[in-house]
Amino acid sequence: MSTSHHRSAWLKGQDPNCCPSSLPPQGPYRLILLGAPGVGKGTQAELLCQRLGTCHLSTGDVFRAAKNLDPAQRSPALTAALDFMRRGELVPDETVLAMVRERVACLRCPGGFLLDGFPRTVAQADALESILAGEQLKLDAVLSYDLPIDQIVARLSGRRTCAGCKAVFHVATRPPKTESVCDHCGGKLYQREDDRPEAVRVRMETYEKSTAPLVEFYRHRDLLISIPAHGTPEEIFQRTLQVLATRR
Ligand code: AMP
Repeated sequence: MSTSHHRSAWLKGQDPNCCPSSLPPQGPYRLILLGAPGVGKGTQAELLCQRLGTCHLSTGDVFRAAKNLDPAQRSPALTAALDFMRRGELVPDETVLAMVRERVACLRCPGGFLLDGFPRTVAQADALESILAGEQLKLDAVLSYDLPIDQIVARLSGRRTCAGCKAVFHVATRPPKTESVCDHCGGKLYQREDDRPEAVRVRMETYEKSTAPLVEFYRHRDLLISIPAHGTPEEIFQRTLQVLATRR
């Protein structure tokens, strides 16, 4: 299974030509990850995808990829979306949903999927529910990572992202072997614009207001699994695998 194909089908909205050659032996997992920014969701997504063979579908990554496009290639809605993102605010639901609908083939992937950063609002969750029902797909679980706010702030300030493959490192808890260089692809590590302190503050407030209600939304549907997000990425990952095993 080629990870780069997953990335381009999702990131650029192309027709996927990345059908997994071998399906995950345990069957496809269809999961949503929830958690405030900085809770370590991106790292868990990476580890889970490697283990479960699912595609990592992050809406934030689609917007960041769009930032690198020639401005003339961006639609007006996408240009506006990037302004929201730069300020740490949520992109309007219609723009995000249009983007996800264009990529619905990735949700149908026989390898399953792991949605990260979507849905972000109850309106998005409602829309996703209709999309999945239309495709006759069922979610397995919604993993909600929980961590106190002071620990979240410490994590965000040290986070570094690879400009090439988007791998995530942390200067203190997950440092690259060589400073500022990605272990996986040799790309340059940088601090995301939306990890700057001003944007972080807005993102935390936005999360509380718009995204926290999703926890209740999925609890009512008996899909929610809460996972304490303290400890090392590996410890959190083992915790995640244990709770997932109880669902199969
Ligand atoms: P993330 O990488 O998921 O933290 O997303 C980075 C930024 O992209 C967010 O702060 C939002 O501005 C925007 N974004 C990503 N996904 C969504 C979404 N589902 N709804 C609204 N805005 C989003």
